Amino acid sequence: MQVVCERCGKSENFMFSNWQCECGGAWLLQSALHISTTSIETDENSIWRYREFFPVELQQRQNSLGAGFTPLLPCSIFDRNVLLKLDYLMPTGSFKDRGMELMMNALALAGVHQIAEDSSGNAGASVAAYAARFGMQASIFTPALTSSTKLAQIELYGAQVHQIPGARQNASQAVMDAVQNGTVYASHAYNPIYLLGQQTVAWEIWEQLAFHIPDWVVLPVGQGGNLLGYYEGFRALLQNGLIERLPGIIAVQPQRLAPICDAYEQGWKEWMPVSAPQIGSVAEGLAITKPVRWRHIMDALTQSHGFCVQVPEEQILPAQWQLAKLGFYVEPTSAVVIAALSQIFDKVEKEQTIVASLTGSGLKSSTTLH
Ligand SMILES: [Zn+2]
Repeated sequence: MQVVCERCGKSENFMFSNWQCECGGAWLLQSALHISTTSIETDENSIWRYREFFPVELQQRQNSLGAGFTPLLPCSIFDRNVLLKLDYLMPTGSFKDRGMELMMNALALAGVHQIAEDSSGNAGASVAAYAARFGMQASIFTPALTSSTKLAQIELYGAQVHQIPGARQNASQAVMDAVQNGTVYASHAYNPIYLLGQQTVAWEIWEQLAFHIPDWVVLPVGQGGNLLGYYEGFRALLQNGLIERLPGIIAVQPQRLAPICDAYEQGWKEWMPVSAPQIGSVAEGLAITKPVRWRHIMDALTQSHGFCVQVPEEQILPAQWQLAKLGFYVEPTSAVVIAALSQIFDKVEKEQTIVASLTGSGLKSSTTLH
């Protein structure tokens, strides 16, 4: 399977041990996807519904936790209609299961038994769950401030947890040191197969809207895996002549740490050093100071004519509570998209369709009302 480095353009045959290009860039799958409405496996209610869209090497399912095919539900919020994509209704309670289900099948097929991942919680829980399902050993490196509920979930699946003090970046460094000893880095940030699995969300929305696309999609952005899944998924539909344009992508970040918003709005050509804030945001899943695929995220925002929204910290928990009062229980990281809606409604025409992605279950969060 050929991959191309999104930083320097080098192309090579993908191997899990070469998890990044020698220039430090992340890989992307190179082959074009062949998509048609007739190749959807309509009796399959998971990401495997789109099995025939995947390159042939990735079509084999050894095991599954049933990720994908989540509801798209209309909801009235602030007197405007919004379609909520309920990606928190997944095997481990987060959107990351889409990519993980595909990546872990590929790892199993390659005969991998030992994996490691760094994560603020959700990716770690997802890797740990799939490792349990496949009988693999997983080591998860988390920042010290990861919520106790996420840690409990990771440990219960049987993974080994390493809590790394200091900034989120320290956990990334620790996992890279660990993978030099024969363990495979099962990274949601770097792995190109993970990113392909994330594209299924775009195909689902297209199918759920009777093979149409929304005008806008609203997404929380940390590493940007969800955003790039939407972007690449819709781009594949465009390349296959199945839609005529891309939906506008709206990236949401907490004001306390919004490097993608800064980079996009200020037109960064190179990444500027960003420090983690002294007091972190309650949107803990978005605590990323340098997203691995930041250039790709810039392309997604530019090509889709999208924009960024920075959410004030004091609006995040009220947004979580407001959603809960409508019956949707998501974590604060996920609630930023609702906190962003008032700013979005000022910019977006009233009759336009908006999909907001709800990414993580409230059962994972340790925040409370008091
Ligand atoms: Zn490269």
